[in-house]
This record gives sequence, C-alpha cells and structure tokens, in this order.
Amino acid sequence: MPENFETKIGKTNCYCAFCKTPRRIYRKKNISGMNILGSAMAATLFMFGIWQGFDPRVIIVFVVFLAISESFVKIRWRLSLVCGICGFDPILYLKDPESASKKVKIRLDERKGDPQYLLSKPLNLPAISAEKSKALESKAKGQLVSRSI
Ligand SMILES: [Zn+2]
Repeated sequence: MPENFETKIGKTNCYCAFCKTPRRIYRKKNISGMNILGSAMAATLFMFGIWQGFDPRVIIVFVVFLAISESFVKIRWRLSLVCGICGFDPILYLKDPESASKKVKIRLDERKGDPQYLLSKPLNLPAISAEKSKALESKAKGQLVSRSI
C-alpha cells in the first residue's frame, strides 16, 4: 500500500471524523492540466463538428467546457466528503456545527428506524461519560447526538 494512501483514480482512504468508518474521498478540488487539455480537445472537436473549420467562437466553447469540468470536479469532491453512514459533513461542521449536528442526528434516527440495519455492526460513535452528558444536556438543552454509559 502506498504511504499516502492515494489510489490511482484520485480517491484517498480515510476515516469518518465522527463514526470512524473507513471511507474513500476525492482530494482533487479543482481541475488539473489534463482537464484543461481535455476541454481544449473537446472544444476543437466541437469547432470542427459545428463550423467545419477554424472559428474564433471556439474560445467561448473552450471556456464553457472548462466551467463544466470545474463544476463537475467541485461537486464530486463536495459530495464525497459527506459520510454515507452517519451523514457527517466536515465542511458544514466548520461553517455551522449545529446544523451539521442536526443532519447527523436525523441520519442516525433514520438508521435506527430502518430494519435493514438491525443486525449490522453498530457504529463506533464518540462516547462520553454520564456526568459529562448531564452537564452538556443542561447546557445544550437536548442537542446531544449520542451518549453511551
Ligand atoms: Zn460517518
């Protein structure tokens, strides 16, 4: 296994920050030189297909293809960050921890009610002691996601 756990298709092995489940995420946030080259080739093909020769409008087509590939890479990266098991979103957690906590709580409640997960391995959720839980509950008014005694 390589030292940095990078795979050939650009995915990286990691663990969910909340439930510690092994996952694979995309690290690439922006387009690379290969994407720019691909967009240039696609724009050239488009130009010869539509206008049957060189045409300055190819620059606009090239920029549109660049924007499409950039947004595809960005959306793929953003969607791969959200944990499929517990629904934890690290980017949302940095911006708004409360709504990230609500999303995880909704996801865990769905999981609790789904019979598909009855016999599955339980999640390795963060555990806190009963005293700390009481202290947090009095402070946060029942916003606690999980508790184990
Ligand atoms: Zn998770």
